[in-house]
Amino acid sequence: MAWNANKLSRFEAVEPHMGTLVGITLYAANPAMAKAAFERGFARIAALNRLFSDYLEDSEVNALSTTPRKVSRELYEILRFAREVSRASNGAFDVTIGPLTRLWRQKLPLTPEAKALVDWQALRLERGRVWFTKPGMKVDLGAIGKGFAADAAARACELDNVLIAASGDIVCRGAPPGESGWRVQAAGVTLRLRNAAVSTSGDARQYFERNGVRYSHIIDPRSGLSMTTQLEVSAVARNGMTADALATAVRVSGDTSIPKRFGAQVVAGPTASTGGHPPEFAAPGSD
Ligand code: ADP
Ligand code: MG
Repeated sequence: MAWNANKLSRFEAVEPHMGTLVGITLYAANPAMAKAAFERGFARIAALNRLFSDYLEDSEVNALSTTPRKVSRELYEILRFAREVSRASNGAFDVTIGPLTRLWRQKLPLTPEAKALVDWQALRLERGRVWFTKPGMKVDLGAIGKGFAADAAARACELDNVLIAASGDIVCRGAPPGESGWRVQAAGVTLRLRNAAVSTSGDARQYFERNGVRYSHIIDPRSGLSMTTQLEVSAVARNGMTADALATAVRVSGDTSIPKRFGAQVVAGPTASTGGHPPEFAAPGSD
C-alpha cells in the first residue's frame, strides 16, 4: 500500500500493562510513525508502573515509610492530587487504603489495626519529600494510577490524535480527523470526547463472593468495609488522573457534587447529573 504523507490512517495496538489490557488507537501518516508512537506510549506506562505499582516489591510507592523520602516528580504529583480528592470527598477516596486492599486480596476480614492505618492526613508531602506518620501504612494507587498513566502515555505518543484505553480509564487527545471527538462507551453511555477523559469505577469485574454477598475491590475507608452494592459510576474530566480518582470518590461517597469542584462531571450512574442525555463533553486543551 502506498502511504500518502498528507493523509492520516488509523492504527491500533493492545498490550498487557498494569494488570489489564491497554489499547492505544491513533492516527499517523504511516505504519512506522504509528509503531514508534506505540512504543513510546507503552514504554511510558511500563515506566510509571514501576513507580506506582504496589504489586512490585521494589516499586517507588512500596519504598515509602516513616522516613521522609525524596520521590519522583510523578509520584509526588499523583499523591498531591490524591490528597485533594481525599479532602474534597471527606476521605471517601483515600490512597492510604493499602492495608485494607491487602486483606481484601487475601479474602481476609477487616482488623482494627489495619483500619487505623488508613488515614490520608497521616501521609505527609513536603518539598518533594513524602512520608507516613504511622508505621505500617501502605499506599495503593489502584484508583488513580491508570488514569495518570493513560494521560502520560497519550502525551508520550507525540501525535495529535490519540486514544488510550486502560480498561475503564479512557483518555482522548484530539479527535479522529474530521470528527468532533472520539466516540467512547462508558457504563452504557456513549460519549464524544476531545481532549478529555472518562473513567468508570464499579464492581462488574473485581469482587469476591461469600454467602451470596459480593465484596467489591472498592472499600469505604470510613467503615473499612468492601462495598457490597453494585453500582457503576463514570466521570468525565479534563484528564485521566482526575476522571479516575473522581469516579472512585463518587462511587464510594455517592456525592455527585464532588466532580464539579474539579471541573468534572458524573455522566453515568444512577444519579448521573446529565439526566440521561448522551452528553457531549469537550475540555479545552488538556495536558
Ligand atoms: P478499577 O480498578 O476497576 O478501575 P477504581 O478506579 O475504582 O476501579 O479503583 C479501585 C482500586 O482502588 C481498588 O482495586 C483498590 O486498589 C483501590 N481502592 C479501593 N478502595 C479505594 C478508596 N476508597 N480510595 C482509593 N482507592 C481505593
Ligand atoms: Mg478510579
